[in-house]
Amino acid sequence: MSFKTSCKVPETILNRLFPVQCLICRRIAVFSTFMCRDCFHELEIYLDTPFSFKPEETPYIREVLSAYWFTPGLQVLVHHLKYKQADFIGRWLGERMGILTLNSEFARTGCLIPVPLHRKRKRVRGYNQSEQLALGISKIWKVPIVPDLIYRQVHTTTQTQMNREERQKNVSGIFAVKRKKVIPNSCVIIDDIFTTGATTCELARTLHIAGVDEIRIFTLGTPLTREGGNFLLNSDEN
Ligand SMILES: [Zn+2]
Repeated sequence: MSFKTSCKVPETILNRLFPVQCLICRRIAVFSTFMCRDCFHELEIYLDTPFSFKPEETPYIREVLSAYWFTPGLQVLVHHLKYKQADFIGRWLGERMGILTLNSEFARTGCLIPVPLHRKRKRVRGYNQSEQLALGISKIWKVPIVPDLIYRQVHTTTQTQMNREERQKNVSGIFAVKRKKVIPNSCVIIDDIFTTGATTCELARTLHIAGVDEIRIFTLGTPLTREGGNFLLNSDEN
């Protein structure tokens, strides 16, 4: 990934030879193909349960974990992942998520289940961003992805103007398990941001009814910044 790890050429020379622009600060960078070293170090590790998770409402979910605070830098990366065709950012962030949790119970799960997109939305985007994250995590944890166990049977419109209750109502029954599929004993659901958690918890509920016993959720980000900023109501859950 980084030229610096494979040879000892100074960064200043590499900058001139292979100039790439950091997606976050727009300066020339060589740390990776899309982000400079400073912006990488400014991503803030959260690695805790998101505040919006309500365990008393979802006893079938063992644990929920989010890897990063929703810093402006992470927001830029998520925006490129979801709306600028930058699927590689998902795999790269997925690897970071995998490394952060390699020694946790999460990494000992039976399989990874990325939150499915409706086929219409997947066709427009060209890929599922949660699946890209799962690919990176799978590489580190050595756990298989099961992308075709469950599908989204209802195409939900944007939920940005809805409150928590409205979102819960809006996502009720949107997922269905495919017939003749082997139901795993345990899984970790992978998603980008745990906004209100309405979509992810509905997926967990559907998997629980289908017979999955041990369900955990792992998301790239929590919708909060360390300073208390909240992106809950202006971010979408698709
Ligand atoms: Zn930068």
